[in-house]
Amino acid sequence: MDAVPATDLAAAARGVPTFDAIVVGAGIAGMYMLHNLRGLGLDVRVFETGTDVGGTWYWNRYPGARFDSESWTYGYAFSKELLEEWDWKEHFAPQPETLAYLNHVADKFDLRRDIQFEATVAAAAFDEAARQWEVTLAGGERFRATFLITALGVLTAHTPPKIDGIETFAGVAHHTARWPKEPVTFEGKRVGVIGTGATGIQVIQTVAKTAGHLTVFQRRPNFSAPLHNSPISPEEMADIKSRYDAIFARCRETPGCFIHMNDPRSTFDVTPEEREAFYEKLYGEPGFGIWQGNFRDMTTDLEANKIATDFIARKIRERVNDPVVAEKLIPKDHGFGTRRVPLESGYFEAYNQDNVELVCLQETPIERITPKGVKTTDREYELDVLIYATGFDAVTGAFDKIDIRGKGGLPLRQKWGDGPRTFLGLQSEGFPNLLTLVGPHNAAARCNIPRCIEQNVEWVTRLMRHMQANGLTYVEATRAAEDKWTADIEKLAEHMLYKDVDSWMTGVNRNVEGKDVRRILQYQGGAPAYRKACDEIADRGYEGFVLA
Ligand SMILES: Cc1cc2nc3c(=O)[nH]c(=O)nc-3n(C[C@H](O)[C@H](O)[C@H](O)COP(=O)(O)OP(=O)(O)OC[C@H]3O[C@@H](n4cnc5c(N)ncnc54)[C@H](O)[C@@H]3O)c2cc1C
Repeated sequence: MDAVPATDLAAAARGVPTFDAIVVGAGIAGMYMLHNLRGLGLDVRVFETGTDVGGTWYWNRYPGARFDSESWTYGYAFSKELLEEWDWKEHFAPQPETLAYLNHVADKFDLRRDIQFEATVAAAAFDEAARQWEVTLAGGERFRATFLITALGVLTAHTPPKIDGIETFAGVAHHTARWPKEPVTFEGKRVGVIGTGATGIQVIQTVAKTAGHLTVFQRRPNFSAPLHNSPISPEEMADIKSRYDAIFARCRETPGCFIHMNDPRSTFDVTPEEREAFYEKLYGEPGFGIWQGNFRDMTTDLEANKIATDFIARKIRERVNDPVVAEKLIPKDHGFGTRRVPLESGYFEAYNQDNVELVCLQETPIERITPKGVKTTDREYELDVLIYATGFDAVTGAFDKIDIRGKGGLPLRQKWGDGPRTFLGLQSEGFPNLLTLVGPHNAAARCNIPRCIEQNVEWVTRLMRHMQANGLTYVEATRAAEDKWTADIEKLAEHMLYKDVDSWMTGVNRNVEGKDVRRILQYQGGAPAYRKACDEIADRGYEGFVLA
């Protein structure tokens, strides 16, 4: 779509419904943003592709979908009443429980009346004369607002695999992020799963329990560690509630806003025996401790990382009976913790079952999908159900799907063509009044995400309050502030091992054209430093922004 001149836009604006703010996305970020903007008395409309709230937890209904964040650290912290009335049933809640929670939030705060569902934003253009955004939905409807706030999520733009013949498969096929609302059964069926990332791991360990035969098509293995989930008794929930202030205070201190804090020691400060005992302890504990609570140099020092990686590889060898299969499940192209670590519950033991077979696509690549199943260079695997656990075009993928045009009709896709350019991960020069919650260059993608969402939303709320109080209607990052932030983002990642590894965290996705170059997509200084940087900018009267 070509840029529409501002004057035409202004003319066309007559009769176009106009709001103070438009929010795109009704996941955790969009819901909270709506609640806060309403609190400021603003007239808001949220557009959401899905038929209801929940975002990630609305779409990802696949078997086995659940948290790797502790449930009681993941919920919204902004409302004491909400914290008091919601009882989590498991330490790492399954998708239906989280979706029920988000529905409860939507009911409690009466959010749905300002959310337009089945409404996909296809384009947004800034009208410089009117200082408004004009938003166009996929169906052609147009709306206007002073502020456009994206709450698109980091794992939203799902990516089906690029395989010849995909449309010819005669059985049942689903991508995990577009899983149907009706139950899908596997009893006695021949099931295939393509993909062994975080989602694939959850699906495989779950489907293996009932499938007649499960074939796992693995392109690259991932390191994974035990989740150690368990139910929460009423007494335990009462105890958690009594400690919420301390729990959220802890989350504010840690780099990833989890309860887990890096051990201040270096891997080399201790004897090999002490090291082993420490790894064992972490491996036996619930959640991300093994990743986020490990020695401070595990994700920055190659040698330290190698020692931890060897420990995890040994665990895989211990748990998988067939040594040949075990070797195939151990990544050789990256170290433990240099990709977001999937947490598992019996994943490796699934490969000890007679009904589970691992196909290593590095040895025998897929040639095509056929009406009967999957054909590799070795043979054809006949399947009744095919599951694509092939993930997302992460962080910037959902932005790329919208034709966002800033000043002078500049497309955001073009501006971010060589990698995102932002100030605080919340604004981009040339795109006034566009605020990008949980966008690139934010601390959020590495985070226990709702904690970072609350920070982002509260920062934007403060900005809006400031603008309201001072009669301002225009906010735009300066080029200098954006240049500095973007340079800082690169610098902060320099010492991190993850930046040399292909993963969604470095924006690499072989199923998406042009996503084969690693990029620094996140702020790596840790959430506390990010929060401090954001607060200082606000305290100094929004230094680095033009306000008018
Ligand atoms: C399977 C899975 C498990 C996860 N587990 C964890 C976990 O344990 N801990 C953790 O911290 N994070 C986890 N995450 C990350 C998760 O995405 C975040 O925790 C959180 O849900 C993000 O909320 P959000 O509101 O930012 O985005 P989302 O929940 O992704 O919501 C974005 C919404 O925007 C809508 N949208 C996007 N583009 C458009 C458009 N153009 N027009 C209209 N609507 C649009 C989408 O439909 C979606 O509903 C997980 C992600 C997945 C996929």
